[in-house]
Amino acid sequence: MTETDNSDLGAESIRAKYRVEREKRMRTDGISQFVELKGQYAHFLDDPYSEVTPREPLADDVTVALIGAGLSGLTVGARLVQAGITDVRLIDKAGDVGGTWYWNRYPGAQCDIDSYVYLPLLEETGYVPTEKYVHAPEIQAHCQRIAKHFGLYDNACLSTEITAVDWDADASRWIICTNRGDAIRAQFIVIGNGPLHRPKLPGIPGIENFKGHSFHTSRWDYDYTGGNVLGGQDKLRDKRVGLIGTGATSVQIVPHLAKACKELCVFQRTASTIDVRNNRPTDSEWAASLEPGWQARRIENFTAMTHGGDVTEDLVDDAWTDLIARILEHMKAGAEMSPEEFGALMERMNMGKMNELRTRVDEHVQDPATAAALKPWYALFCKRPCFHDEFLQAFNEPAVKLVDTDGKGCERITENAVVVDGVEYEVDCLIYATGFEVGTAFTQRIGYELIGRDGRKLSAHWGDDMRSLHGTHTRGFPNAFIVGAKQGGLTSNFTHLVDEAAMQLTYIIGRALEEGVREVEVTEEAESAWTKMIQSTVAPPFLGQGECTPSYFNGEGKSSGAITVYPQGPLAFFKLLEDWRNAGDHEGLEFRQ
Ligand code: NDP
Repeated sequence: MTETDNSDLGAESIRAKYRVEREKRMRTDGISQFVELKGQYAHFLDDPYSEVTPREPLADDVTVALIGAGLSGLTVGARLVQAGITDVRLIDKAGDVGGTWYWNRYPGAQCDIDSYVYLPLLEETGYVPTEKYVHAPEIQAHCQRIAKHFGLYDNACLSTEITAVDWDADASRWIICTNRGDAIRAQFIVIGNGPLHRPKLPGIPGIENFKGHSFHTSRWDYDYTGGNVLGGQDKLRDKRVGLIGTGATSVQIVPHLAKACKELCVFQRTASTIDVRNNRPTDSEWAASLEPGWQARRIENFTAMTHGGDVTEDLVDDAWTDLIARILEHMKAGAEMSPEEFGALMERMNMGKMNELRTRVDEHVQDPATAAALKPWYALFCKRPCFHDEFLQAFNEPAVKLVDTDGKGCERITENAVVVDGVEYEVDCLIYATGFEVGTAFTQRIGYELIGRDGRKLSAHWGDDMRSLHGTHTRGFPNAFIVGAKQGGLTSNFTHLVDEAAMQLTYIIGRALEEGVREVEVTEEAESAWTKMIQSTVAPPFLGQGECTPSYFNGEGKSSGAITVYPQGPLAFFKLLEDWRNAGDHEGLEFRQ
């Protein structure tokens, strides 16, 4: 990374350009600009991948209900089974396990993080991924492998959507009602719905009028497009396709559609940063040389490299670790600097990297106007960085047109076209690569209300913000545990935090069962103290970003700047949990007989 290579523009000009581009994108409606998938849009949530098999309603009793059969539910389930707690049930509206990897099977879907750290439980299941960044089918197959290995299919309820979850205080049980007529009783529930769970549509005027074919990327319609997740969308060869959005999902899709469609219009509001991918097959000699414990060491190393841990060796060695490691190195070197000098250093580094990424666009895109439009003008990490070696090149295909909206978004949708700047782009099919709800109410995202002790609703208890101990326990909701990053330890490798949560919950549930405890609930004091600590910690300006362009990271430009994760970082958070377990006194939790 060059620190000062702002070859075309000086720092002040770049800052000014960032401000101008940000202003174009700022809007008063923040996250409410998006359309929720309900009512006339509810069909966008239908599962196109599985037939529902009829079954009788259940009214039985399980020790642990795992709500969500994605990587969270699977990992917690696996750790419970390992600890001898086998009476567990996965419940998911999807027709199979896999969560985000069940839903997101669009062409090109691929792991963005080193597979050897992202795919959980590799040693436990005896598997080594075939590539550094494996494709979605292999990840879904691994999810199935975990479910089979730990017997999690045996008692699973799939294609089952939860409608209500109520606490029965007399029985100390949760009652889970579903759209299959179930009323399942569970001593403990673990909610692991994933951070990017509920698709959303853009609030483009006229969206309801479109009469062509349309779907969201997380419900890909292969009947319409042909092919599969690895490509071959041959049914699109006579179709004009519009793809709205240019985030991480779109970046993986575009190279496939570019080869397949008669015409592909990519509607862009903000360009993504596209760094080098450099995927490669797994070296069989390396795989054979792995010593027991290798995956835990690699996972720990990746988190340490990307979150400022004390490590000297970079085991993962990719664009994530290289970039962040260099930044952290400079941060250490800058420890003696004044805050102003340090801020300036971070800004120079960030600008240098962004210049490098803009130069990469020129290297790969032939048409100068298209290349100019594909250049991102904001500080790195204002948006989720993307990595791809074929996305930029796809814009050289004659069938592909980039329709840049200059930050404004699409103007209108008609019966058969998308309108930008007064120009109608006719399409047969409109694909929404417009992401997932972030920042909406938790109960809206999970799709049901949690009703706890004394009829308390989770949405009412939380109000505008989560209240928790460790991001997991909430007062008034005994025996209910949440798995997620909020108010916990956010990692760039989500599955690392999931596994740490799994170990913590296995310990808590295991102890409760050993001691014959009926209820586990966080104390009011512990919940208040943790929530206050998290909410009062204001995020320091990160990497010279200054004011960021809108994204789901900052509530589409509206968030206050208060961080909602453990301020000392994920490794310190995981250590805190380990120390808490070792202390053995379950501080902050009431264990009631
Ligand atoms: P994003 O939220 O990142 O992107 C949504 C896109 O839709 C943006 O380009 C956005 O523009 C655009 N958009 C929204 N409204 C409009 C509008 N009115 N007009 C035109 N464009 C509009 O969703 P993704 O599905 O791409 O990615 C979500 C997340 O999923 C990623 O950040 C990543 O964390 C994860 N992911 C992970 C992958 C992996 O391999 N692990 C792969 C793919 C996704 P704007 O930027 O201006 O808001």
